[in-house]
Amino acid sequence: MRTWLTVALAVAALIATACSGAPVEWRDEPVVGEWPLGFRFTADELAEYLVDQHELVLAERVWCRANAGLLPDGGPGSIFGEDASERDQRRFFDPLGDAEMAWITDLATATAQLRELPLDPLPEFRIISHDDLRIVACHALLHEDQGANEGGFWLFERALGINHQDWTPSVLNALWAYSVGGWYSTETKAVTLVGDTPLASHQFYMITHELVHAMQDQYLEGGIEALREDVTSDHASAISWIIEGDASTVEAVIYSAGVLALLRTYDWGEDGGWLPERNGLSLGIAPLIGQEFFAPYISGADYVREQQNAGGWARVNALLADPPQSSEQILHPDKLESREPPIDAERLAELRRQIFEPREEPSATTMGEQYLANLIGLSTPALAAEAAAGWGGDELAVWSVVNGRRSTTAIWLIAFDNAKEHREGVSGLREWLIAWSNSSAVTDSSGRALAYNGAAGAIRIVNSAQTAWLIVSTDRRTADKITRDALLLTEEPGWWN
Ligand SMILES: [Zn+2]
Repeated sequence: MRTWLTVALAVAALIATACSGAPVEWRDEPVVGEWPLGFRFTADELAEYLVDQHELVLAERVWCRANAGLLPDGGPGSIFGEDASERDQRRFFDPLGDAEMAWITDLATATAQLRELPLDPLPEFRIISHDDLRIVACHALLHEDQGANEGGFWLFERALGINHQDWTPSVLNALWAYSVGGWYSTETKAVTLVGDTPLASHQFYMITHELVHAMQDQYLEGGIEALREDVTSDHASAISWIIEGDASTVEAVIYSAGVLALLRTYDWGEDGGWLPERNGLSLGIAPLIGQEFFAPYISGADYVREQQNAGGWARVNALLADPPQSSEQILHPDKLESREPPIDAERLAELRRQIFEPREEPSATTMGEQYLANLIGLSTPALAAEAAAGWGGDELAVWSVVNGRRSTTAIWLIAFDNAKEHREGVSGLREWLIAWSNSSAVTDSSGRALAYNGAAGAIRIVNSAQTAWLIVSTDRRTADKITRDALLLTEEPGWWN
């Protein structure tokens, strides 16, 4: 026990060195350190240890530093390759061979028949090895400007104390590079596979998945990207449920149709086994992000399957062409039917501005009913779906600088459909904060606000007529000021305890 603690501390010290940018020449010296008891370890061993500790991003940093000599010269770019220099493209990405293309063409025909959508032309295919993809991501990971993603919504979750990771584009790149098996690019219209040839048989399903994305992209006027232009976070996730749910459903259909057995002539490569393993990506992700991240592939597939059972692929095509505008419309079929829009975020923004108007404009979006349920579910899963069911609309506004001072401050203003739903929603939020804070959240003298002061920041819930205010700030005085103003300027809902 004692030895283990020492080891953990030694790793912490080493990580501190690795992250401070001190020159550690790991490539020249394969053994990167020594435990106090004399055990020597390599960068790979250290990275593996960090993955076990769920420190995926730190593990990638260690791995990148050890491989710094191999970094691309194209500068920081997306792993998806669109903005990589042409030289890097040639160096890292290879076209797929004839043997692979032969059965991929057959698979595309089968997929198009099963999905009842044409696929013409067949997208171009290319391949990159898993380690090369990680190398592409390394450049940004090692050279990123820390905190470049100011105003991103991870700030809100970090202030809530539920997510310690900085979700900069470089960090997301690194996580994707670690876990992704392939992708379809709406920009280049090409499918990229991650791995080596001969392909392993598990890649078969993923290729089906990407072929479906190519079909969707060809089917939709303006392509998949046109759907995602200028939408809120909630709307974007509703779209993802359809796009990813469709592709994931077809994977399952292809699987049960036994198509793989028809392609016996291909000499499959070793199943590297890394894909299921790396789905432990969720390990490096805060639970809330993990839910958001995987829901389109899991719950989205369930949803699309139900729709397909009820109305065939025509129904799924209709949903692609005109997707739900909110998670509320997915969770409540009657609201999809009536296309009940969320309560106008602009009205909520007006309400918020009456309370709090710092000089800077915030980043703002709508998070949606599913997100509210996910948040409440973190501490009180039994309450979550019911408490969130009356969600009528929301606006999350996040500032990284307030009145010239650096602090993360967020106001999440949630409106409910009616008084009963409002009561249930606020109770759900209240129970969540009480459980989340180990019962250290206290009701203030007004009886309308619940306050919690934690290490990551201050959280306040203010209950007002038809709405709930979740106020979060790394600066306690800011949280208190907004709370006081909200109490003064909003109506009493007439109940609380
Ligand atoms: Zn997909």
